[in-house]
Amino acid sequence: MSELHEPLRFDARALLAGGGPAKVTLVGAGPGDPELLTVKAAHALRAARVVLHDSLVSDDVLALLPPEAHRIYVGKRAGCHAMSQGAIIELMLKLARAGHAVLRLKGGDPYIFGRGGEEAQALAEAGIPFEVIPGISAAQGAAASAGMPLTHRDHARALVFATGHLRGEGENRSLDLDWEMLARPRQTTVIYMGLGTLPIICEQLMRHGAPPSTPAAVVERATCPDERVIDGTLETLPALAQVHGVKAPALIVIGGVAALHEQLAPAKRALAMA
Ligand code: SAH
Repeated sequence: MSELHEPLRFDARALLAGGGPAKVTLVGAGPGDPELLTVKAAHALRAARVVLHDSLVSDDVLALLPPEAHRIYVGKRAGCHAMSQGAIIELMLKLARAGHAVLRLKGGDPYIFGRGGEEAQALAEAGIPFEVIPGISAAQGAAASAGMPLTHRDHARALVFATGHLRGEGENRSLDLDWEMLARPRQTTVIYMGLGTLPIICEQLMRHGAPPSTPAAVVERATCPDERVIDGTLETLPALAQVHGVKAPALIVIGGVAALHEQLAPAKRALAMA
């Protein structure tokens, strides 16, 4: 698999045929386990020629690409962007206009905290044909593998996905979330990108009325062979996550369903052993 340091030759046939720009496919790679790809995503991967991928796409998923596919890594690792969002969009448009069908591969689902919406808007504005293939989002993967149903008649009648990512620059960096809404009872709140702000999240939820005993868990590398689940409460989770050295990617699951992990995850282990 080439990491595209050699220049891509433009598809002269496509250009001469005057067929206009090639199609871009935004593909959800799921949370990590390659078996969780949709059949449609797996087909698209096998047919890929030029791939722009993020850091969250697992190696097992990338292994499904044909060896001759050009892979361009555009993700970020340890807070360091390989490419800005604007540059990613520019590159995607340039490749498509030059006649290359592009597969834009994103962790989880492209339209859930994946900036897929911005990329689709740029494609629509540029008149470039595109398709979106949904993926299993990290929350759904974690729910199944860690034994935390996202809704449950006894625990959660609503489900909120929120981001714990800080907005703004320098001292103005803040978490601009609707804490009152997030602290409501009888709902599940799943926080993406919230590991760095976990202490603030738990504190704000308690300050806005959520009981300190509210079950809360961190699911690290959900669906991957080394998945870890740290169970706690709003009061205890930040310290537990620190003690256990939890690292990204990780999700925070808050609400009664987080406590079902103890009951539902052993069933998964028993099945795996059967
Ligand atoms: N589009 C993705 C989310 C991208 S935002 C999706 O639908 O899943 C990146 C965040 O997703 C990470 O910071 C983490 O909070 C979460 N995430 C992605 N993969 C994960 C995994 N395997 N386990 C736990 N969290 C994950």
